[in-house]
Amino acid sequence: MSESIREILARPSAGGGVTIRGWLRTARHSKEVSFLEVSDGSCFSGIQVVAGPECHGFEETVRALGTGCAVEASGELVESPGSGQSFEIRASSVALVGGVGEDYPLQKKRHSLEFLRTVAHLRPRTNTLGAVLRVRNATARAIHDFFQQRGFIQIHSPIITLSDSEGAGDLFRVSTLDVENPPRDEEGRVDFRQDFFAAPAFLTVSGQLEAEIAALALSKVYTFGPTFRAEDSNTSRHLAEFWMVEPELAFCDLDGLGELAEAFLKQVFQRVREACPDDLEFFNKRIDDTVLATIAHVIEQPFERLRYSEAIEILEKCDRQFEFPVRWGLDLQSEHERFLSEEYFRRPVVVTHYPKAIKAFYMYLNDDEETVGALDVLVPKVGEIIGGSQREHRLEVLRRRIAELGLEEDRYWWYLDLRRHGSVPHAGFGLGFERLVQFMTGMANIRDVIPFPRVPGNAEF
Ligand code: ATP
Ligand code: MN
Repeated sequence: MSESIREILARPSAGGGVTIRGWLRTARHSKEVSFLEVSDGSCFSGIQVVAGPECHGFEETVRALGTGCAVEASGELVESPGSGQSFEIRASSVALVGGVGEDYPLQKKRHSLEFLRTVAHLRPRTNTLGAVLRVRNATARAIHDFFQQRGFIQIHSPIITLSDSEGAGDLFRVSTLDVENPPRDEEGRVDFRQDFFAAPAFLTVSGQLEAEIAALALSKVYTFGPTFRAEDSNTSRHLAEFWMVEPELAFCDLDGLGELAEAFLKQVFQRVREACPDDLEFFNKRIDDTVLATIAHVIEQPFERLRYSEAIEILEKCDRQFEFPVRWGLDLQSEHERFLSEEYFRRPVVVTHYPKAIKAFYMYLNDDEETVGALDVLVPKVGEIIGGSQREHRLEVLRRRIAELGLEEDRYWWYLDLRRHGSVPHAGFGLGFERLVQFMTGMANIRDVIPFPRVPGNAEF
């Protein structure tokens, strides 16, 4: 394998032969010389290849090269006289590996992100998407590193499931029944007993319940996998398919979980900043000029901690007109979450003790019997980035909550069984991976931080 441009640019000094392979960002041809800007995606910048008449293939190949062509170039690594870059390549040979059609859509001019979504097969070659994909990669790695260093064990939770994780989102059905002509039961309803899994099955909306099972054996675990929600909401923060990170810890309460969430975000931001300085610089310059300051802020500032009741009080007292009502008992909307973290506290905010009525049945019931051990982390721009809770580990309380909410106990038999055998206080959270990447890059639309977004009406590519 040849050296990547990233490796070449990291060399301590010029000199010596190099060979690169990549795609032309630009080509400038003057009479005697051609300047080719070649990128291989290994880092933000490309490298300049300078080819003159002495270069093999100059007349036949180099003169005809344009944006998008795939090339292989060899030559000597020399100091770059121009500003901006340390090295360039004085080419001894340039070969065309793959040409481009006249209709190659990515020309030098800047394209809108909306347009780029229509060419998702080519957009990784743009500065923006290339940077997104590298940051995404660095973020995933930082997440694994964080948990692995602390002895968490990664669990692969199933993608197909019979459980609906208690309405965390709308479900996609998984079925092999003939949709035109499904089997029917005595009452004329579709008979899922004849379906592949002999029951209604869905794509998972969360790996939490399985992570709980694992945590009650392995103590500290996490999942990092795709989750699916058939939310028909065309927002800049929702995808139908997104990746979720879900740590779950046994012998852990809400305070412990808040500490974990803060340490987690801080370390991940730190690592990504170290791994992708040029990419983040680009986002700061071209996408959102608060990106670097926000990252520094998350790393350096202690997170604010407050209870839901206090958050409501702040929102009621502030002189802001919100679109959605603010009242104890109502859920916080994105505008409220953003106000708290972006304007009021100006830092990430950990909100806990939500009313039980707006949270899931499995959350730990506090002594006041009104609030539960829920925890959301709110960040500027994005709003909620982490949602979690201490889980209800007391069998009788859990059964009572299930009954109160009119859920069928049978469906949760194994979840309840875990509370009968060696149950311990435990807690966990879910982090939307794409929301994290959005936050890190300042990208306004979640469709631009995943290579192939799945949203209502579109799953092309
Ligand atoms: P929201 O209110 O924003 O829809 P949620 O309350 O449905 O979020 P949870 O069920 O708590 O979210 O999921 C955990 C995390 O997954 C959220 O904090 C968020 O970061 C992320 N998330 C949830 N839904 C989506 C989605 N449709 N697309 C991308 N990320 C999502
Ligand atoms: Mn949702």
